[in-house]
Amino acid sequence: GLPPYDDGNIFARILRGEIPSRKVHEDEHALAFHDIAPQAPVHVLVIPKGSYVSVADFSAKASPEEVAGFWRAVGLVARQLGLEDQGFRVLTNMGSDAGQEVPHFHVHIFGGKPLGPMLA
Ligand code: 5GP
Repeated sequence: GLPPYDDGNIFARILRGEIPSRKVHEDEHALAFHDIAPQAPVHVLVIPKGSYVSVADFSAKASPEEVAGFWRAVGLVARQLGLEDQGFRVLTNMGSDAGQEVPHFHVHIFGGKPLGPMLA
């Protein structure tokens, strides 16, 4: 698993406005912003406003409203970025085997080109 939530992680700092980000969407439950090192023509991160380390933590602890609000934001962002027609990929890394770097739950949205097969 992962250590307990650390308020000093970079996405917590982005949520508090201590570090700038290129925002694409913000609402009560979620914030979406462009990844600083894009791996596709469109590469956006969507994070819940609540303090969850990973998808496992979020799934276990978030309220139904937070879960619904978060996934609604993922769909809204994809639509807003014009990705619905051609398609896109949603991915989350959890823990060391997946190479999770930032210990605040986030999903990546990739799009803007044919993405090829899933990573092995
Ligand atoms: P992970 O490996 O945890 O799933 O992905 C973390 C992602 O956060 C990486 O794609 C990385 O480029 C991105 N990232 C790390 N630091 C920052 C930052 O300060 N600002 C933004 N916008 N993205 C970041």
